[in-house]
Amino acid sequence: MSDDPINDYYPDTIAVRAGQQRTMEGEHAEPIFPTSSYVFDSAAAAAARFSGEDPGNIYSRFTNPTVRTFEQRLAALEGGERCVAMASGMAAIYATCAGILRQGDHIVSSRSIFGSTVILFNNFLEKFGIGISYVDQTDMQAWSDAVQANTRIFFLETPSNPLTEVADIRALATLAHDHEALLVVDNCFCTPVLQRPLEQGADIVIQSATKYIDGQGRCVGGAVVGSEQLVGTDVYGFLRTAGPSMSPFNAWVFLKGLETLGLRMQRHSHNAMEIAQWLQQQDNVTRIWYPGLESHPQHELAASQMHAFGGIVSFEVSGGKEAAWRLLDATQMLSITANLGDAKTTITHPATTTHGRLTDEERQQAGISDGLIRVAVGLEDVRDIIKDLARGL
Ligand SMILES: *Cc1c(COP(=O)(O)O)cnc(C)c1O
Repeated sequence: MSDDPINDYYPDTIAVRAGQQRTMEGEHAEPIFPTSSYVFDSAAAAAARFSGEDPGNIYSRFTNPTVRTFEQRLAALEGGERCVAMASGMAAIYATCAGILRQGDHIVSSRSIFGSTVILFNNFLEKFGIGISYVDQTDMQAWSDAVQANTRIFFLETPSNPLTEVADIRALATLAHDHEALLVVDNCFCTPVLQRPLEQGADIVIQSATKYIDGQGRCVGGAVVGSEQLVGTDVYGFLRTAGPSMSPFNAWVFLKGLETLGLRMQRHSHNAMEIAQWLQQQDNVTRIWYPGLESHPQHELAASQMHAFGGIVSFEVSGGKEAAWRLLDATQMLSITANLGDAKTTITHPATTTHGRLTDEERQQAGISDGLIRVAVGLEDVRDIIKDLARGL
């Protein structure tokens, strides 16, 4: 992609224009190609395709024009050479590990990652002889101490869920590279609009397209972005054989989502900032976690590596679980659900849902108190969101 003139455009233009190749019908919007296979002009043309001499489509588990448009658009937005679309965010994480790691390799991972990723690492990767060490993601010394001779991947999400801890991408990329390891960043909470980890030294970016890239809660999908070798060869090699491929319809929904992503992320961030500032004035709120607030422990780091601070705000109410549940139940508009990245604002009580299967001690260690509430701020008028939160405070 690097020699593609589309990369000379600003991100908002790339989000609307990159990757489209019009067919002879002259359609304005991107077409959906619901086809499992492709036909060849002759036996010789088929042979050339299969041998790799002619690089066209063979079968939609490998490539599909609609999926490719989405991949090229997201690669250009993240600033990566290649993007490979996947059936889900989890498939993207699994395919990255399966494509790159060998038996006996080791991952150093932030402790504050998506719950399913922890289960994937502990229950499935470990079964195939991959070792995992978890560290506090803001503790550089802990990352350094956890490195082993066989460490191949550093893995993190920033800001983390639900406590919005911010990891130093540049410093961790340097540390990983000093040990010949790769830095993999799950960039789901930020999208390339708010943060471009590859520019800051990361080797691979993972997206769950299910969240902000769709942005309206319709489809499940994911993507991996990085170099031609790592993503275009190692991860793609796994995808085309193992088959967690994105469907053309979902790719079309996501690529239309990319066209409005810049506008939406700005509004998510703006609304979240207003809510965080309003929460600061509420007597029953004992603590707020939002990287945009100056009181956030990594506010300056966040300001240096993010363009805005995102849509996730967490806060603690006094009165523990009862007070937290009362607040959730008093809302009339907000959706009580653990999902995020939707136009509709969602509200969650982590201690009894996303983190409900942890023991009391594990929950305490993770900083998930009984009074903690997470709001994934949507695109409604922020005055209505605040009015709804105020009902239960
Ligand atoms: C949702 C999520 C995932 C998994 O994505 P799916 O599309 O649900 O498979 C991975 N990482 C983060 C941070 C997420 O929020």
